[in-house]
Amino acid sequence: MVTIKEVSKVYRGQKAALSNINAQIKSGTLLGLVGPNGAGKSTLINIIAGVLRPTKGEVQLALKDLASLAWVSQSTTLDWYLDVLHNVRLGARLGGVALYKSYKIAYQAMELMQISDLKYTDVEAISGGQQQRVQIARALAQQADLLLLDEPTLGLDYNGSIQLMKHLKKLVLQGKTIIISSHNLVLLEEYVDHVWFLNDGVLEINQPLQQFLLEENYQDTTELTILYQGNLEEQTLEEIQNSGVRILQQSPLKVELTNSVDTNTLLAILLPKIKIYAIKPAVMGLEKLYTKVQ
Ligand code: ADP
Repeated sequence: MVTIKEVSKVYRGQKAALSNINAQIKSGTLLGLVGPNGAGKSTLINIIAGVLRPTKGEVQLALKDLASLAWVSQSTTLDWYLDVLHNVRLGARLGGVALYKSYKIAYQAMELMQISDLKYTDVEAISGGQQQRVQIARALAQQADLLLLDEPTLGLDYNGSIQLMKHLKKLVLQGKTIIISSHNLVLLEEYVDHVWFLNDGVLEINQPLQQFLLEENYQDTTELTILYQGNLEEQTLEEIQNSGVRILQQSPLKVELTNSVDTNTLLAILLPKIKIYAIKPAVMGLEKLYTKVQ
């Protein structure tokens, strides 16, 4: 659906915002775009949307027409002279939905984003979070094949964010392609299929989410949780620490093994003192891995 070829972007007088990005996205993918502030996420989304020209390289989209692309920008762009209903209906019309059908589609999108009760309110009279819901509803009403969402959960409350992600998941199962940037890594981890990690304009990670989590966890299984019965005395804890193991928590015992010690060393200290009934390696989620790779 999306092919990005050697894309670089340099804003005038600045260092590169994007450096030689090469990537592809298959149809039916929910892609999470993550990275610190200033990494180039919006720049990349705007280049894919076609509203920003790359300095070098190109983006190819397998779309039948431009109406099949919907974009929610990070800044609020609404028609300030229209009410909520007509802003959302505009999305349907831009997407080529017939006039008589556009109201039904708009009502569905407003229902989904929980703004139906605001339908006759002017968009300038509603809160920032509600305006964000209108922007998203408008994009959903467009019924596009490719949906670009730049931090859509910003300003959305907890339930609104979950509701949106669940709907996006449904859309990709129907074959739509969605790129979503967000700092809400816990939410992304639950729903996205694929992850792009941008850092300082460089695409450092481009992997299916599950593969990324698996590989990173495999490389780093040094954190263990040990469930035990008995008493861990101060002296034993000291002994553990002196062996080079870092104690993160005492009950249940959570430790981090350094390169110089292995599990056997730790067990040799623990086994005479306590009864161990489970040892679990910590599985790091996207959020934890993100802080690690950054
Ligand atoms: P992100 O979305 O990851 O926070 P951006 O794409 O907004 O990152 O920004 C990437 C870099 O490009 C930043 O250093 C930012 O200051 C710069 N930048 C973004 N937009 C502009 C612009 N319109 N003019 C000049 N520099 C910009």
